[in-house]
Amino acid sequence: MKATRFYGAGHAIQIEDVPEPEVGPNAVLVKIAGAGVCHSDLHVIDGEVGVKRNPITLGHENAGVVEKIGSQVTAVQPGDGVAVFGAWGCGVCNICERGEENLCQNPIYPGIMVDGGWAEKLLVSHSRNLVKLNGLDPVVAAPLTDAALTPYRAIKKTVSRLGPGKRLGIIGVGGLGHMALQIARALTPATRLYAIDVNKDKLAMAKELGAEVTIDGAGDVGAAVKAATDGEGLDAIVDFVGNDQTLANAAASAAIGAKVVIVGIAGGTLPYSFWKLPLECEVTSSIWGSRQELKEVLELARTGLITPHIERQPLEAINEVLSRLHAGEIQGRVVLTP
Ligand code: NAD
Ligand code: ZN
Ligand code: ZN
Repeated sequence: MKATRFYGAGHAIQIEDVPEPEVGPNAVLVKIAGAGVCHSDLHVIDGEVGVKRNPITLGHENAGVVEKIGSQVTAVQPGDGVAVFGAWGCGVCNICERGEENLCQNPIYPGIMVDGGWAEKLLVSHSRNLVKLNGLDPVVAAPLTDAALTPYRAIKKTVSRLGPGKRLGIIGVGGLGHMALQIARALTPATRLYAIDVNKDKLAMAKELGAEVTIDGAGDVGAAVKAATDGEGLDAIVDFVGNDQTLANAAASAAIGAKVVIVGIAGGTLPYSFWKLPLECEVTSSIWGSRQELKEVLELARTGLITPHIERQPLEAINEVLSRLHAGEIQGRVVLTP
Protein backbone atom coordinates (compact mmCIF):
# COMPACT_ATOMS: atom_id res chain seq x y z
CA MET A 1 0.00 0.00 0.00
CA LYS A 2 1.05 3.60 -0.57
CA ALA A 3 2.27 5.54 2.48
CA THR A 4 4.13 8.75 3.27
CA ARG A 5 7.34 8.16 5.24
CA PHE A 6 9.13 10.61 7.56
CA TYR A 7 12.89 9.97 7.99
CA GLY A 8 13.66 12.68 10.55
CA ALA A 9 13.92 16.47 10.72
CA GLY A 10 15.45 18.01 7.63
CA HIS A 11 14.32 15.24 5.23
CA ALA A 12 11.48 15.69 2.74
CA ILE A 13 8.63 13.21 3.25
CA GLN A 14 8.83 10.26 0.84
CA ILE A 15 5.97 8.38 -0.80
CA GLU A 16 6.69 4.63 -0.64
CA ASP A 17 5.05 1.29 -1.18
CA VAL A 18 4.96 -0.47 2.23
CA PRO A 19 3.56 -3.88 3.26
CA GLU A 20 -0.05 -3.90 4.45
CA PRO A 21 -0.07 -4.38 8.27
CA GLU A 22 -1.17 -7.70 9.83
CA VAL A 23 -4.51 -7.38 11.65
CA GLY A 24 -4.31 -8.78 15.22
CA PRO A 25 -7.35 -10.19 17.11
CA ASN A 26 -8.58 -6.82 18.51
CA ALA A 27 -7.32 -4.64 15.66
CA VAL A 28 -9.03 -3.09 12.65
CA LEU A 29 -7.61 -2.09 9.27
CA VAL A 30 -9.17 1.17 8.08
CA LYS A 31 -9.05 2.34 4.46
CA ILE A 32 -8.28 6.05 4.88
CA ALA A 33 -10.75 8.46 3.29
CA GLY A 34 -9.32 11.55 4.96
CA ALA A 35 -6.23 12.35 7.03
CA GLY A 36 -5.76 15.89 8.34
CA VAL A 37 -2.48 17.78 8.33
CA CYS A 38 -2.02 19.37 11.77
CA HIS A 39 0.47 21.98 12.93
CA SER A 40 1.63 19.37 15.48
CA ASP A 41 2.96 17.39 12.49
CA LEU A 42 5.05 20.46 11.65
CA HIS A 43 6.43 20.52 15.22
CA VAL A 44 7.46 16.87 14.62
CA ILE A 45 8.93 17.57 11.18
CA ASP A 46 10.87 20.56 12.56
CA GLY A 47 12.35 18.28 15.25
CA GLU A 48 10.60 20.04 18.17
CA VAL A 49 8.52 16.95 19.09
CA GLY A 50 10.13 13.50 18.93
CA VAL A 51 8.65 10.43 17.23
CA LYS A 52 9.23 6.85 18.35
CA ARG A 53 10.06 5.26 14.99
CA ASN A 54 12.22 6.04 12.00
CA PRO A 55 10.93 5.92 9.39
CA ILE A 56 7.34 6.54 10.46
CA THR A 57 4.07 7.43 8.74
CA LEU A 58 2.70 10.61 10.35
CA GLY A 59 -0.99 11.54 10.56
CA HIS A 60 -3.14 11.49 13.73
CA GLU A 61 -6.41 12.96 12.35
CA ASN A 62 -8.03 10.08 10.53
CA ALA A 63 -11.31 8.70 9.26
CA GLY A 64 -12.31 6.13 6.65
CA VAL A 65 -14.03 2.83 6.03
CA VAL A 66 -13.40 -0.45 7.88
CA GLU A 67 -11.65 -2.89 5.54
CA LYS A 68 -10.64 -5.83 7.78
CA ILE A 69 -11.43 -6.76 11.38
CA GLY A 70 -9.56 -8.99 13.85
CA SER A 71 -11.04 -12.29 15.04
CA GLN A 72 -12.29 -10.77 18.36
CA VAL A 73 -13.80 -7.57 16.95
CA THR A 74 -17.57 -7.19 17.13
CA ALA A 75 -18.01 -3.40 17.47
CA VAL A 76 -17.54 -2.62 13.76
CA GLN A 77 -17.93 -4.51 10.49
CA PRO A 78 -16.20 -4.17 7.11
CA GLY A 79 -17.83 -1.31 5.21
CA ASP A 80 -18.60 0.82 8.29
CA GLY A 81 -17.61 4.49 8.07
CA VAL A 82 -15.50 5.34 11.13
CA ALA A 83 -13.66 8.21 12.79
CA VAL A 84 -10.40 7.16 14.41
CA PHE A 85 -10.07 8.36 18.01
CA GLY A 86 -6.34 9.16 18.05
CA ALA A 87 -5.45 9.60 21.73
CA TRP A 88 -4.75 5.89 22.18
CA GLY A 89 -4.03 5.39 25.86
CA CYS A 90 -2.44 2.29 27.42
CA GLY A 91 -6.02 1.25 28.27
CA VAL A 92 -5.18 -0.13 31.74
CA CYS A 93 -3.98 2.76 33.95
CA ASN A 94 -6.32 4.64 36.34
CA ILE A 95 -6.53 7.59 33.96
CA CYS A 96 -7.51 5.42 31.00
CA GLU A 97 -10.03 3.57 33.17
CA ARG A 98 -11.76 6.80 34.04
CA GLY A 99 -12.08 7.55 30.31
CA GLU A 100 -9.43 10.26 29.92
CA GLU A 101 -7.05 8.36 27.67
CA ASN A 102 -5.81 11.68 26.29
CA LEU A 103 -4.08 12.17 29.67
CA CYS A 104 -2.49 8.68 29.80
CA GLN A 105 1.22 8.75 30.67
CA ASN A 106 2.02 5.85 28.34
CA PRO A 107 0.08 6.73 25.19
CA ILE A 108 0.59 5.10 21.79
CA TYR A 109 -0.50 7.88 19.45
CA PRO A 110 -0.78 6.89 15.77
CA GLY A 111 1.49 9.14 13.70
CA ILE A 112 3.88 9.73 16.62
CA MET A 113 4.52 6.41 18.40
CA VAL A 114 3.25 4.05 15.66
CA ASP A 115 2.41 4.52 11.98
CA GLY A 116 -0.40 7.00 11.38
CA GLY A 117 -2.88 7.78 8.66
CA TRP A 118 -1.04 9.65 5.86
CA ALA A 119 -1.33 6.42 3.88
CA GLU A 120 -3.88 4.34 2.01
CA LYS A 121 -4.61 2.28 5.14
CA LEU A 122 -4.21 2.59 8.91
CA LEU A 123 -3.92 -0.22 11.43
CA VAL A 124 -6.02 0.72 14.47
CA SER A 125 -4.69 -1.31 17.40
CA HIS A 126 -8.05 -1.74 19.15
CA SER A 127 -11.62 -1.43 17.87
CA ARG A 128 -12.51 0.75 20.91
CA ASN A 129 -10.61 3.54 19.14
CA LEU A 130 -13.23 3.75 16.37
CA VAL A 131 -16.44 5.75 16.45
CA LYS A 132 -19.07 4.95 13.80
CA LEU A 133 -19.91 7.89 11.56
CA ASN A 134 -23.58 7.03 10.98
CA GLY A 135 -23.70 8.84 7.66
CA LEU A 136 -21.20 11.65 8.31
CA ASP A 137 -18.70 12.09 5.41
CA PRO A 138 -15.35 10.60 6.55
CA VAL A 139 -13.39 13.40 4.82
CA VAL A 140 -15.27 15.89 7.00
CA ALA A 141 -14.89 13.65 10.06
CA ALA A 142 -11.10 13.42 9.81
CA PRO A 143 -10.33 16.95 11.11
CA LEU A 144 -13.09 16.62 13.70
CA THR A 145 -10.95 14.00 15.50
CA ASP A 146 -8.39 16.65 16.51
CA ALA A 147 -8.91 20.10 14.93
CA ALA A 148 -12.40 20.10 16.49
CA LEU A 149 -12.00 17.67 19.41
CA THR A 150 -9.07 19.62 20.92
CA PRO A 151 -10.80 23.05 20.94
CA TYR A 152 -14.01 21.37 22.14
CA ARG A 153 -12.30 20.18 25.32
CA ALA A 154 -10.42 23.49 25.72
CA ILE A 155 -13.55 25.63 25.35
CA LYS A 156 -15.53 23.42 27.74
CA LYS A 157 -12.91 24.37 30.36
CA THR A 158 -13.90 28.04 29.97
CA VAL A 159 -17.70 27.86 29.86
CA SER A 160 -18.14 28.75 33.55
CA ARG A 161 -16.65 32.18 32.64
CA LEU A 162 -18.86 32.68 29.55
CA GLY A 163 -22.45 33.61 28.70
CA PRO A 164 -24.45 36.75 27.85
CA GLY A 165 -22.16 39.79 27.70
CA LYS A 166 -19.04 37.75 28.47
CA ARG A 167 -16.04 37.71 26.12
CA LEU A 168 -13.96 34.82 24.74
CA GLY A 169 -10.68 35.41 22.90
CA ILE A 170 -9.34 32.95 20.33
CA ILE A 171 -5.65 33.38 19.50
CA GLY A 172 -4.76 31.73 16.15
CA VAL A 173 -7.57 31.14 13.67
CA GLY A 174 -6.00 28.15 11.89
CA GLY A 175 -7.11 24.52 11.74
CA LEU A 176 -8.05 24.43 15.43
CA GLY A 177 -8.99 28.09 15.86
CA HIS A 178 -11.55 28.16 13.03
CA MET A 179 -13.31 25.21 14.69
CA ALA A 180 -13.00 26.85 18.12
CA LEU A 181 -15.08 29.83 16.97
CA GLN A 182 -17.84 27.53 15.72
CA ILE A 183 -17.74 25.37 18.86
CA ALA A 184 -17.97 28.48 21.06
CA ARG A 185 -21.01 29.67 19.10
CA ALA A 186 -22.63 26.25 19.49
CA LEU A 187 -21.92 25.89 23.22
CA THR A 188 -22.39 29.47 24.37
CA PRO A 189 -24.20 31.47 21.66
CA ALA A 190 -24.54 34.69 23.69
CA THR A 191 -20.79 34.99 24.35
CA ARG A 192 -19.00 37.73 22.38
CA LEU A 193 -16.10 36.34 20.33
CA TYR A 194 -12.75 38.11 19.82
CA ALA A 195 -10.35 36.62 17.24
CA ILE A 196 -6.62 37.40 17.14
CA ASP A 197 -4.35 36.36 14.27
CA VAL A 198 -1.39 37.76 12.31
CA ASN A 199 -2.97 36.94 8.93
CA LYS A 200 -5.72 39.07 7.35
CA ASP A 201 -7.38 36.13 5.54
CA LYS A 202 -7.67 34.24 8.84
CA LEU A 203 -9.26 37.28 10.47
CA ALA A 204 -11.71 37.58 7.55
CA MET A 205 -12.66 33.93 8.08
CA ALA A 206 -13.08 34.61 11.80
CA LYS A 207 -15.59 37.37 11.01
CA GLU A 208 -17.54 34.97 8.79
CA LEU A 209 -17.56 32.44 11.63
CA GLY A 210 -19.08 34.90 14.07
CA ALA A 211 -16.21 36.86 15.65
CA GLU A 212 -17.53 40.26 16.70
CA VAL A 213 -14.06 41.81 16.94
CA THR A 214 -10.87 40.85 15.06
CA ILE A 215 -7.44 42.02 16.21
CA ASP A 216 -4.05 42.03 14.46
CA GLY A 217 -1.81 39.70 16.47
CA ALA A 218 1.30 41.55 15.31
CA GLY A 219 0.24 44.81 16.99
CA ASP A 220 -0.27 45.75 20.65
CA VAL A 221 -2.87 43.06 21.34
CA GLY A 222 -3.39 43.93 25.01
CA ALA A 223 -4.12 47.59 24.19
CA ALA A 224 -6.42 46.66 21.30
CA VAL A 225 -8.36 44.21 23.47
CA LYS A 226 -8.70 46.71 26.32
CA ALA A 227 -9.91 49.36 23.83
CA ALA A 228 -12.52 46.93 22.49
CA THR A 229 -13.74 45.75 25.93
CA ASP A 230 -14.28 49.00 27.88
CA GLY A 231 -10.92 48.42 29.53
CA GLU A 232 -12.07 45.14 31.10
CA GLY A 233 -10.31 42.49 29.01
CA LEU A 234 -11.44 39.00 28.01
CA ASP A 235 -13.17 36.60 30.42
CA ALA A 236 -11.52 33.57 28.79
CA ILE A 237 -8.79 33.12 26.21
CA VAL A 238 -7.71 30.01 24.32
CA ASP A 239 -4.22 30.28 22.82
CA PHE A 240 -3.86 28.08 19.72
CA VAL A 241 -0.25 29.16 19.12
CA GLY A 242 1.51 29.05 22.49
CA ASN A 243 4.69 31.00 21.79
CA ASP A 244 6.20 33.69 24.06
CA GLN A 245 4.42 36.43 22.12
CA THR A 246 0.93 34.93 22.14
CA LEU A 247 1.16 33.92 25.81
CA ALA A 248 2.21 37.48 26.70
CA ASN A 249 -0.68 38.77 24.57
CA ALA A 250 -3.08 36.43 26.39
CA ALA A 251 -1.86 37.72 29.77
CA ALA A 252 -2.18 41.34 28.59
CA SER A 253 -5.75 40.69 27.34
CA ALA A 254 -7.11 38.79 30.35
CA ALA A 255 -9.79 40.28 32.60
CA ILE A 256 -9.73 39.95 36.40
CA GLY A 257 -10.67 36.33 37.21
CA ALA A 258 -10.22 35.22 33.58
CA LYS A 259 -9.22 31.73 32.47
CA VAL A 260 -6.41 31.23 29.94
CA VAL A 261 -6.17 27.82 28.24
CA ILE A 262 -2.97 26.96 26.39
CA VAL A 263 -3.44 24.58 23.46
CA GLY A 264 -0.65 25.58 21.05
CA ILE A 265 2.62 23.75 21.65
CA ALA A 266 5.03 26.30 20.16
CA GLY A 267 7.07 26.05 23.37
CA GLY A 268 6.56 29.54 24.82
CA THR A 269 6.70 30.41 28.53
CA LEU A 270 4.23 32.52 30.48
CA PRO A 271 5.81 34.06 33.61
CA TYR A 272 3.31 33.53 36.45
CA SER A 273 3.33 35.14 39.85
CA PHE A 274 0.83 36.77 42.18
CA TRP A 275 0.99 40.26 40.60
CA LYS A 276 2.04 39.29 37.05
CA LEU A 277 -1.44 38.36 35.87
CA PRO A 278 -4.80 39.96 36.61
CA LEU A 279 -6.13 39.03 40.06
CA GLU A 280 -7.32 35.41 40.32
CA CYS A 281 -6.57 34.72 36.65
CA GLU A 282 -6.31 30.97 36.06
CA VAL A 283 -3.96 29.41 33.53
CA THR A 284 -4.19 25.81 32.37
CA SER A 285 -3.39 23.64 29.39
CA SER A 286 -5.59 21.29 27.38
CA ILE A 287 -4.64 18.22 25.41
CA TRP A 288 -6.74 16.58 22.68
CA GLY A 289 -10.00 15.08 24.06
CA SER A 290 -11.65 11.91 25.31
CA ARG A 291 -13.55 9.34 23.24
CA GLN A 292 -16.82 10.56 24.77
CA GLU A 293 -15.94 14.14 23.78
CA LEU A 294 -15.25 12.93 20.23
CA LYS A 295 -18.77 11.47 20.10
CA GLU A 296 -20.14 14.85 21.19
CA VAL A 297 -18.10 16.67 18.52
CA LEU A 298 -19.35 14.29 15.80
CA GLU A 299 -22.88 15.03 16.97
CA LEU A 300 -22.26 18.80 16.69
CA ALA A 301 -21.17 18.20 13.08
CA ARG A 302 -24.12 15.92 12.29
CA THR A 303 -26.52 18.60 13.49
CA GLY A 304 -24.77 21.17 11.27
CA LEU A 305 -23.57 23.36 14.16
CA ILE A 306 -19.90 22.98 13.20
CA THR A 307 -18.40 22.47 9.73
CA PRO A 308 -14.67 22.30 9.06
CA HIS A 309 -13.35 24.37 6.15
CA ILE A 310 -11.48 21.70 4.17
CA GLU A 311 -8.98 21.73 1.31
CA ARG A 312 -8.55 18.23 -0.18
CA GLN A 313 -5.11 17.15 -1.41
CA PRO A 314 -3.55 13.84 -2.57
CA LEU A 315 -0.79 12.14 -0.52
CA GLU A 316 1.71 13.23 -3.19
CA ALA A 317 1.13 16.91 -2.30
CA ILE A 318 2.28 16.47 1.32
CA ASN A 319 5.59 18.39 1.13
CA GLU A 320 3.96 21.33 -0.61
CA VAL A 321 1.10 21.32 1.92
CA LEU A 322 3.60 21.33 4.81
CA SER A 323 5.50 24.32 3.43
CA ARG A 324 2.23 26.24 2.96
CA LEU A 325 1.20 25.35 6.53
CA HIS A 326 4.60 26.59 7.72
CA ALA A 327 4.04 29.89 5.91
CA GLY A 328 0.58 30.25 7.51
CA GLU A 329 -1.10 30.09 4.09
CA ILE A 330 -3.69 27.38 4.78
CA GLN A 331 -7.26 28.42 5.52
CA GLY A 332 -8.99 25.86 7.75
CA ARG A 333 -7.54 22.35 7.36
CA VAL A 334 -5.90 20.37 4.56
CA VAL A 335 -7.20 16.81 4.47
CA LEU A 336 -5.18 14.26 2.51
CA THR A 337 -7.48 11.98 0.50
CA PRO A 338 -5.35 8.96 -0.53
P1 NAD B 1 -2.42 26.27 12.10
O1 NAD B 1 -1.07 26.50 11.52
O2 NAD B 1 -3.51 25.75 11.25
O3 NAD B 1 -2.96 27.64 12.78
C1 NAD B 1 -2.15 28.48 13.54
C2 NAD B 1 -2.73 29.90 13.40
O4 NAD B 1 -2.03 30.77 14.28
C3 NAD B 1 -2.59 30.49 11.98
O5 NAD B 1 -3.82 31.01 11.55
C4 NAD B 1 -1.54 31.58 12.18
O6 NAD B 1 -1.72 32.67 11.27
C5 NAD B 1 -1.79 31.99 13.60
N1 NAD B 1 -0.67 32.66 14.26
C6 NAD B 1 0.65 32.43 14.12
N2 NAD B 1 1.36 33.26 14.90
C7 NAD B 1 0.46 34.04 15.55
C8 NAD B 1 0.56 35.09 16.51
N3 NAD B 1 1.74 35.52 16.94
N4 NAD B 1 -0.58 35.67 16.97
C9 NAD B 1 -1.79 35.24 16.53
N5 NAD B 1 -1.95 34.24 15.63
C10 NAD B 1 -0.83 33.66 15.15
O7 NAD B 1 -2.18 25.32 13.38
P2 NAD B 1 -3.21 24.27 14.08
O8 NAD B 1 -3.15 22.98 13.37
O9 NAD B 1 -4.50 24.96 14.31
O10 NAD B 1 -2.46 24.04 15.49
C11 NAD B 1 -2.32 25.12 16.40
C12 NAD B 1 -1.40 24.73 17.54
O11 NAD B 1 -2.07 23.78 18.38
C13 NAD B 1 -0.09 24.07 17.13
O12 NAD B 1 0.94 24.45 18.04
C14 NAD B 1 -0.39 22.59 17.30
O13 NAD B 1 0.77 21.82 17.47
C15 NAD B 1 -1.22 22.65 18.55
N6 NAD B 1 -2.08 21.49 18.82
C16 NAD B 1 -2.24 21.16 20.13
C17 NAD B 1 -3.09 20.13 20.46
C18 NAD B 1 -3.31 19.78 21.90
O14 NAD B 1 -3.87 18.73 22.19
N7 NAD B 1 -2.93 20.64 22.85
C19 NAD B 1 -3.76 19.42 19.46
C20 NAD B 1 -3.59 19.80 18.13
C21 NAD B 1 -2.75 20.85 17.81
ZN1 ZN C 1 -3.00 17.50 15.85
ZN1 ZN D 1 -3.30 4.70 30.34
